[in-house]
Amino acid sequence: MACIGVMSLQGGFAAHIARLQELGHRTVQVRTAEALNGLDGLILPGGESTTHLKLIDRYHLRSSLESFVASGRPVLATCAGLILAARQVTAPSQPSFGWIDIAVARNAYGRQLDSFESVADEGELPLVFIRAPRIVEVGKQVEVLATLNGDPILVRQDNFTGATFHPELTDDWRVHRQVFGEGCGVELKPAA
Ligand code: GLN
Repeated sequence: MACIGVMSLQGGFAAHIARLQELGHRTVQVRTAEALNGLDGLILPGGESTTHLKLIDRYHLRSSLESFVASGRPVLATCAGLILAARQVTAPSQPSFGWIDIAVARNAYGRQLDSFESVADEGELPLVFIRAPRIVEVGKQVEVLATLNGDPILVRQDNFTGATFHPELTDDWRVHRQVFGEGCGVELKPAA
């Protein structure tokens, strides 16, 4: 069983916590730098990335998050979390940490598609998008793990995995399982 932190300043942290617990992991809500100590992995959830940036500074989390990502432990960032982590953010532009070599355009799917469900081009993986960013550039070191209509939507660079969608809001556990493995095996989804 691993102990996984979920940054819990704002936004969709609760569903990630539920998903990790169903996989048998222990979870910690991260609101202070101290809470990052001793964790085996970390989730940066969706929400509103501008608000996240402000709260990260208000709670003095910036340098501890930097060191956590640099430590090589697995990190999963979804939607706003991925916007924070990108190398470059546009539409509107804002500062970001550059933990993964991608450029994203925020809120890129237009008004009528503010929120929508779909399935990855590769098949099977269900997708929920909520005012999602679009990945518009992918660096050489970045692996594209899934696409939608040819756009990268699930990407990985070393220990850092990012999704423009919300895997925590579907009943498919593969993204969390792939990043963090399985915990002690409680309540695993029965084979279909
Ligand atoms: N639109 C939000 C932003 O730009 C992200 C939305 C989400 O995380 N679901 O920060």
